[in-house]
Amino acid sequence: MEVAVIGAGPVGLMLAAELRLGGAKVVVLDRRTEPDRRPRANGLGGRIVEQLDHRGLLDRFRAEATFAGPFPGFPFGPVPLGFSGLDAPPRGLMLQQPRMEALLAERATELGAEIRRGHELVDLGTVRGPDGEYRIEPRYVAGCDGAHSRVRELAGIGFPGTTGDELMRLGHFRADVDLFATVAGLERGWNRRPGGRVLVTSLTPGIVIAGVREVTPEPPGEPTLEEFRDAVRRVLGTDLPLGEPLWLSRTASSARLAERYRTGGVLLAGDAAHLFPAGGSSLNVGLLDAVNLGWKLAAVVRGRSPESLLDSYHAERHPVAARTLTQTRVQALLDRLTGEDGDALRTLFGELAALPEATRHLAGLLRDTDELPYVPDLPLTVGGRATRVAEVMRAARPVLFDFADRADLRECAGADVKIVTAECPEASADALFVRPDGVVTWCGGDPASLREAIAAPGR
Ligand SMILES: Cc1cc2nc3c(=O)[nH]c(=O)nc-3n(C[C@H](O)[C@H](O)[C@H](O)COP(=O)(O)OP(=O)(O)OC[C@H]3O[C@@H](n4cnc5c(N)ncnc54)[C@H](O)[C@@H]3O)c2cc1C
Repeated sequence: MEVAVIGAGPVGLMLAAELRLGGAKVVVLDRRTEPDRRPRANGLGGRIVEQLDHRGLLDRFRAEATFAGPFPGFPFGPVPLGFSGLDAPPRGLMLQQPRMEALLAERATELGAEIRRGHELVDLGTVRGPDGEYRIEPRYVAGCDGAHSRVRELAGIGFPGTTGDELMRLGHFRADVDLFATVAGLERGWNRRPGGRVLVTSLTPGIVIAGVREVTPEPPGEPTLEEFRDAVRRVLGTDLPLGEPLWLSRTASSARLAERYRTGGVLLAGDAAHLFPAGGSSLNVGLLDAVNLGWKLAAVVRGRSPESLLDSYHAERHPVAARTLTQTRVQALLDRLTGEDGDALRTLFGELAALPEATRHLAGLLRDTDELPYVPDLPLTVGGRATRVAEVMRAARPVLFDFADRADLRECAGADVKIVTAECPEASADALFVRPDGVVTWCGGDPASLREAIAAPGR
């Protein structure tokens, strides 16, 4: 076994597909016997949407999405941001997490990843499967096993940060959202009250998404309808016409970041590596971890790159999560602060956020927080055929785009590099060298500098 990916959540599945594109043999192990049906995230936004396009997955996602296109705005915690004045608002896709996971599992399987459900990693070389325990000896273990990562624990990687004293209870209920408007002056969205906040909204006719946030100790056991009702009563002072619950959850928001993303042959990605205290970023960042790590790990196990390339995974992705932690902590604080102080902070922050430069900055944080230069999706003509950069990137290989018919540059590219000689009137350089994850590491120059860039693609 070359790579064992622990966790068949969205991040593990994305990583498995990327590893297969890079030619690595991969087995995905998940202790759940069935895919997770909980409708946690409702969508994706920012650069991950472009990456799905680079992998030819965007059409599959769009076909099922309830929304796909530039986001008209985004809630920065409790502060609504409007993106109508931006030249390039972040792109978004609204699709519930179980459907995303089904599409990612389909893709990983098509590419040849083996997914074993009902197989739990108990220590780094032992798995408990339906027929008992067995040993595995993978060269690398990728921990995509979520917030309580066993891989992280076994590798001795610290997970410092904070867990808040507020609990969020969330549920989907079979009910008519219009009925809620008649209760206690509730509006769609989060409703602020002195003792907490209550959410009422709907994305599907006949299904209400309701939530309650309050400072309260976490009770033991699975969340129940009674507990949800009690929490609503405490915050609103009255009951809600909740109807039959389809799904209930209870989470304390955490802000945590793994000390290291790699130790020896163990790597972390997704919730195993970072937890953010506000919604809307976790999945985007986790899936982009997988895109950054996949081609590197495949290149190392296939012998195309030295092991040191894996250190660039931590170097490039850890700061992204640190930055995301900063902006999600601010979102959470804006939301949590109560009373007149909280109202004042939200009012002034909202006024500042509406200034064009500030909106652009916040949209940039939500779109993506890494500083790497990504290749734009330029239109190209290759051999008389019209195409675009995203289509060239489908194979997840390093690409030398040669826009000026430079034989001297083409000679530098070894067998692993795909050479694309193209006409591109919009290109600002003679040639580009682009990593499989879309990062431009060389932008014109002499053959010697290109050779260096190809030999050392990590930053
Ligand atoms: C109520 C709620 C609402 C959310 N809303 C949003 C949102 O709006 N936007 C957003 O971006 N994110 C949201 N999230 C977060 C998002 O769901 C996670 O970021 C995402 O699921 C992380 O994916 P992952 O693959 O890293 O981990 P997970 O989805 O947690 O998958 C981990 C997998 O590892 C498996 N596993 C664990 N331990 C082992 C083991 N020892 N052996 C084998 N398998 C193991 C588990 O069974 C699981 O399938 C929400 C989360 C919750 C709980």
